[in-house]
Amino acid sequence: MAETAEHVDVLIVGAGLSGIGAAYRLQERCPDATYAILEGRSASGGTWDLFRYPGIRSDSDMYTLGYPFKPWTGKKAIADGADILSYIRDTASEFGIDRHIRYQHKVVAASWASEEARWTVDVVVGDDAGPTRLTTSFLFMCSGYYSYDKGHTPDFPGIDGFGGQVIHPQEWPEDLDVEGRRVVVIGSGATAVTLIPNLAKTAEHVTMLQRSPTYIGSLPAVDPLALATRKLLPARLAHHVNRWRSVVFNTAFYQLCQRRPALAKKLMKQRVKAELPDDVPVDPHFDPSYDPWDQRVCLVPDGDLFTAMRKGRASVVTDHIDTFTETGIRLTSGQELEADIVVTATGLTLVAAGGIAFTVDGREVVPGETYVYKGFMLSGVPNAAMCVGYTNASWTLRSDITAQSVARLWDLMQRRGHTMAVAEIAEEDAAAAQPLLGLTSGYVQRAAALMPKQGSRAPWLLRQNFILDLATFKLGDLTEAIRFSSPDRRIRRQRAELDRELEQLVEA
Ligand SMILES: Cc1cc2nc3c(=O)[nH]c(=O)nc-3n(C[C@H](O)[C@H](O)[C@H](O)COP(=O)(O)OP(=O)(O)OC[C@H]3O[C@@H](n4cnc5c(N)ncnc54)[C@H](O)[C@@H]3O)c2cc1C
Repeated sequence: MAETAEHVDVLIVGAGLSGIGAAYRLQERCPDATYAILEGRSASGGTWDLFRYPGIRSDSDMYTLGYPFKPWTGKKAIADGADILSYIRDTASEFGIDRHIRYQHKVVAASWASEEARWTVDVVVGDDAGPTRLTTSFLFMCSGYYSYDKGHTPDFPGIDGFGGQVIHPQEWPEDLDVEGRRVVVIGSGATAVTLIPNLAKTAEHVTMLQRSPTYIGSLPAVDPLALATRKLLPARLAHHVNRWRSVVFNTAFYQLCQRRPALAKKLMKQRVKAELPDDVPVDPHFDPSYDPWDQRVCLVPDGDLFTAMRKGRASVVTDHIDTFTETGIRLTSGQELEADIVVTATGLTLVAAGGIAFTVDGREVVPGETYVYKGFMLSGVPNAAMCVGYTNASWTLRSDITAQSVARLWDLMQRRGHTMAVAEIAEEDAAAAQPLLGLTSGYVQRAAALMPKQGSRAPWLLRQNFILDLATFKLGDLTEAIRFSSPDRRIRRQRAELDRELEQLVEA
């Protein structure tokens, strides 16, 4: 361990979309704050660098997934992963943020000491350099929400006896060639519906094997109205107009799903039916048992999934896996799917706050026992924030409010001379706990107990509503449940007084 640890005012964990955005907001509001970004991997971009499967793309538009301060200039609104990665990295270099990133710095533990009003952060550096230690006054977790080590694959019976290849989209082999091969993709979420039309371009056939269906909506990859707006208006203004158009449209659609689920369901099914080949019925393949937005609605650009199905290059099977066999998968109905390659698009392993072990004044923090305050701080955890995006809208809409909240809080602490800020929850709010992510999806349910909780009313409720959150951020009191103090200064004063008294005693 280093003898004297380096200190920064704010330590950002993670150099993905959120970490870069957080640094921008900090530089903008608090230019005097010293900061570093610690990134566990050897590259920036997070999700958009990690996932390399064919066709990787956003499933929300880039006017809202992009930053409000950096216009999206790509042609496609539903953009390719490589373009999103370039956009994040361009942002980092344009604003000098990249100079603050330290790669291969994985944060493993963080302990808060009130008497020093600072965090001591343990970091594993690279493969050879070994551990190191930093201190910070404010810890900002922009570490995403899932494990980078491994995706989620259920224990499928017989999988070890399968003679073909099994691949998880999180670990896509660079040289995998699917040409002329039979591929089964297990899953029906965003990753599965992205992969299938892309694999179907060269594979002999791609089968989407789903246990239960998902709502799927189709939007044009290139939004002609957005391009026209960009031609007419200056870049920044056009970006804002396109962003707000998307926010209003998506919020209205989400509200329709919440208030009139039967109508929303009918509309979505009608649209899918119009795109499906005649021999593929909506029921059971595209008729989920839940209401739209009880789980994330998947988006397919230009209906590419349905085009692949109409061309006969892809098909869908709704059934349960009985067992893998040497040549494929046997289903509970008795049907056998022959396969050379099986892709397990079965989801992510969720992780809270970068998997870091936290202690506050020697007491272990169990993330599942904390509550999220205004979507960015954890109850009882001083001088720390975490970035979690929306589940029903683009991640960045929420992560940018979080980044601005942290910058505002830090600025306030400096101006008022406080060194410690902690969100404290009242007993009645803690009693009305709910899971953080209100989706019924399997991966969310599996991790519910590990994740921080939310309350049932503001400021402890995550409203999943950007317009309301922005209004509250702009007009509301950021600090309503935050207790400010300066324990380090009080302790230093007490120590100085004691020293003086001792000196006086010795002199006497
Ligand atoms: C395949 C896929 C597609 C998606 N598409 C969309 C979409 O279209 N729209 C949308 O809104 N959302 C989408 N999401 C969600 C997506 O993750 C967010 O949009 C966004 O990229 C999250 O950014 P982030 O920076 O918060 O987290 P991440 O992108 O996960 O980045 C976190 C970074 O933190 C680092 N890190 C984690 N823990 C530590 C640690 N302990 N120490 C040091 N570094 C650490 C990681 O290495 C990583 O670089 C998608 C997710 C996936 C997996």
